[in-house]
Amino acid sequence: MKFTIVGGGLAGAALAYHLKKFDCDVTVYDRKDKGQATKASAGIICPWVSQRRNKKWYRLVSKSAAFYPSFIKTLEKDSQMDTGYKQNGAICLFKENAFEKATKRIQKKADEDINVGQVTALSKNELKDLHPFLTTTYPGLFVEGGGQVRGQKLLLALKTAFLKLGGQWLETDYPADQEHDGYTIYTTGAWGIEQNFLPKISHQRAEIMHFNIKDKSKETPVVMALGPTYIVHLEDNRYVIGTTHIDTDSFLTEPTEESYQYLKEELYKYFQEDEVEIVKMDVGLKPYTRDFLPFIGFVDQHTFVINGMGSTGLTASPFVGSEVAKLLLGKETNLDFNDYNYINSET
Ligand SMILES: Cc1cc2nc3c(=O)[nH]c(=O)nc-3n(C[C@H](O)[C@H](O)[C@H](O)COP(=O)(O)OP(=O)(O)OC[C@H]3O[C@@H](n4cnc5c(N)ncnc54)[C@H](O)[C@@H]3O)c2cc1C
Repeated sequence: MKFTIVGGGLAGAALAYHLKKFDCDVTVYDRKDKGQATKASAGIICPWVSQRRNKKWYRLVSKSAAFYPSFIKTLEKDSQMDTGYKQNGAICLFKENAFEKATKRIQKKADEDINVGQVTALSKNELKDLHPFLTTTYPGLFVEGGGQVRGQKLLLALKTAFLKLGGQWLETDYPADQEHDGYTIYTTGAWGIEQNFLPKISHQRAEIMHFNIKDKSKETPVVMALGPTYIVHLEDNRYVIGTTHIDTDSFLTEPTEESYQYLKEELYKYFQEDEVEIVKMDVGLKPYTRDFLPFIGFVDQHTFVINGMGSTGLTASPFVGSEVAKLLLGKETNLDFNDYNYINSET
């Protein structure tokens, strides 16, 4: 069976790798567009803290987080590369008046799912020990199962393992008029709008700020701060803080002054101004579909789409790639694709 994958971000690369593990004939086309979401991503794997109530989304991301440790073990062996994956917990901060309710909500998830690990309230000293650079006094929880991965490193490891297994990866636009046998799978992220499939793809522009902690370094867990703000340690004294979410039709990837100012203000809420130096801004285009749920399904007999991975595509893509590979090969799957393969009439 021949498979052609159009788009070599995380969604495409994860599927390509898993199909190749089944010894299929797989070709990936990737034109490395500026704004690729995988390249800009922060890398948090901690879906249990979100207040989002959508059950289909939660089933997908919680199964995906559970899949990560064994997937990374196999991938690091196959690629002989580091992916930056660490399951070293997550610090979650809340406003004083939201802390009790949030603790109950996350503890309930931990009671239902062993992968969440222990959920512990942090004293001020414990928070300082875990993350000595934070200046905040907000109450915090530690979620043991939280983790992180480096999007770019993970993508490179997938591509390397795929090539070692005999796959073909072409850094070029997909010639859409090309006739070939087998299945074509579109994983084109924000650029999915070019294919005109339903459901329609839209995107958000997300900007993220890279900064250094001056003259100091310590490995620290990811911080899920107030509102949509998060802080992730990358390596040495390098961190990121994110992110902005702007609905747009534009594919421009230059950082804006407005996002810079917003993230700078967020940065100084959590760190002492003279202890940090801003290094750069990155911009990624996050793909969405209807309901903010991914679309994972056939659009015709030989054409399959995985898109709309949104804000949790780094978490979900490896599991989705593994499940779609099984589906396309007629094997039993652990994911109910009916949750993600419908097309609403209004979309
Ligand atoms: C700032 C930011 C922070 C994020 N943080 C997190 C996080 O902490 N945790 C989490 O789980 N997720 C996170 N995400 C989300 C995650 O990164 C995305 O959901 C995921 O990377 C989407 O992967 P993708 O492969 O669908 O798209 P992309 O990574 O955008 O890849 C699409 C690829 O398709 C290629 N392509 C398009 N059209 C064609 C064509 N016709 N021919 C050839 N190639 C084509 C493009 O060039 C591109 O390389 C974040 C995203 C951003 C932007």
